[in-house]
Amino acid sequence: MRAALQAARHGARVLLLTKSTVGRANCTAVAMGTLRVSRENQDIEHHFQETLKAGKFLNNPDLVRTLVCEAWPSVAELKTFGVNLLVESGKVSIAAERRPAGILLTKALTAAAFNAGVTVLEKTMVIDLPVAERCLGALALRNTGELLTISAKATILATGGYSQLYMRNDNPPPVTGDGLILAFRAGAELQDTEFVQFLPLFTDAGVPRKPIVDWLIEGTKHLVPGGPLINNKGERFLQSYNLLEEPILRDNLIVAIEQESKEDDFVILDLTLPSSDQIEGALNLEFQKSAIRPFLKVLSTKPLHIASFAHFTMGGVSIDETCSTAVEGLYAAGEVAGGIHGANRLGGNALTEILVFGTIAGNHAATYASQTALREIDKEHVKKAEKRLQELKKTKKTPIDPLLIEKDVKSIMLQFCRPIRSGEGLTRAQEELHTIEEKTASMAGNNPDQIKTALEAEFMVTLANLLITAASSRKESRGPHFRVDYPERDDHNWLKNIVLSQKDGKLNIQYAPATR
Ligand SMILES: Cc1cc2nc3c(=O)[nH]c(=O)nc-3n(C[C@H](O)[C@H](O)[C@H](O)COP(=O)(O)OP(=O)(O)OC[C@H]3O[C@@H](n4cnc5c(N)ncnc54)[C@H](O)[C@@H]3O)c2cc1C
Repeated sequence: MRAALQAARHGARVLLLTKSTVGRANCTAVAMGTLRVSRENQDIEHHFQETLKAGKFLNNPDLVRTLVCEAWPSVAELKTFGVNLLVESGKVSIAAERRPAGILLTKALTAAAFNAGVTVLEKTMVIDLPVAERCLGALALRNTGELLTISAKATILATGGYSQLYMRNDNPPPVTGDGLILAFRAGAELQDTEFVQFLPLFTDAGVPRKPIVDWLIEGTKHLVPGGPLINNKGERFLQSYNLLEEPILRDNLIVAIEQESKEDDFVILDLTLPSSDQIEGALNLEFQKSAIRPFLKVLSTKPLHIASFAHFTMGGVSIDETCSTAVEGLYAAGEVAGGIHGANRLGGNALTEILVFGTIAGNHAATYASQTALREIDKEHVKKAEKRLQELKKTKKTPIDPLLIEKDVKSIMLQFCRPIRSGEGLTRAQEELHTIEEKTASMAGNNPDQIKTALEAEFMVTLANLLITAASSRKESRGPHFRVDYPERDDHNWLKNIVLSQKDGKLNIQYAPATR
């Protein structure tokens, strides 16, 4: 939405397509509302270094430089859209009585975009990005079943990440990673797809599934002897991962939780001993206190079960500082893009990213469009898409519900491709995915919704395959990619991004030095 707004401000005629309803059912709308910014030169350098450190130095430094330098102007601008900000100890969050606060951001951006003349088509899924030397626009499927041909001078992908590839995730349902495969099929490069950030969430019935972020465990770890996390043997395990002395980060916390929950698939968070005041008092920021306040009662009532959920995906479409991809006329911004976060993301950098890079993508796409003639999407592309839709509609001998394909992919990914991985498990996953891929030929859609799900399922199978290919190739442990067969981080051999692309239908894997 930020990209659409910027392109419209730049004088472009903008059409925004979304699978969901505008401003809803996307990650931005459900975000807690923290934004990482830095204002003074010293802080900007610190932000830069911290982002690289969190990304285990796989980040593209030019993109990180752009992020940290543009962070404050892009975030401060939110006030002009009517979004109030809470600034404390250099941290910024959206001022809100209740969290998640992201909906305040999407509402404000939507209103600004409408005012700037952006047209929106809801419940419309982009299914193809036709290319003839450059991207010519998009083919999209409406919820009525109608196929739309949208010729455009420039196209921006802002389709979010791919946490929905996992059975357990905290993302809204439409965020299935379509944009990565749309770009990949169009000829763009994908990078770092093996890196998926997991967070622990409550799993008890009746307890809201909110992220138990690293700062809650970090803040409260000295309130209880041995820390508040307990495994199924009743052991308090933070000490055995040196997490009582060392600061808790998202990846070292999740690897510890994953190791300790191998048998039961959960661990216990026990904060029943300290009082609610003690818990609140142990947190530094007002934002953190307000986020945890609604849970204080339940936290002090009983020990709670927590398990890891896919939350954010670091991999994405490779872009440069203008958000251009390898395909002329195709831009990408937000979680669909790769390179900014490297192997792991620093909390708060994602919302900052969508504002900074949304603005950049809007500017550059609009400039490109102003210098380019419109070319119609050729009939061959449309015919091919129509043929695929017809195939899906055909009666099958033993029809398979596309939802089952999605479910199977998600369960394989949760079983074999969560943070703790092994070569053996990844090979199993690839074999099982191969069987699923064969089944996609029998997918049948009796209505537009099922057809949409079938196309989404195809995207998911391809993306899962690419993720597993990259995870199998990376023979080391880094960030939330922990290989039991290669448990050490190996900077000598693996300070590289795994870049995937296809040429003439063949997968091409490159190992690009991370400091390029
Ligand atoms: C619970 C939660 C809390 C979070 N809290 C924070 C936080 O406090 N701070 C922070 O920095 N980050 C946070 N994040 C991460 C952050 O919210 C996301 O990274 C960011 O909002 C992604 O924005 P986006 O615009 O790239 O994608 P999204 O906001 O996810 O939007 C993607 C859109 O693309 C549409 N789409 C997808 N495929 C298609 C298709 N084929 N055709 C048409 N439309 C399509 C979807 O319908 C959706 O509307 C949080 C994430 C979650 C899940």
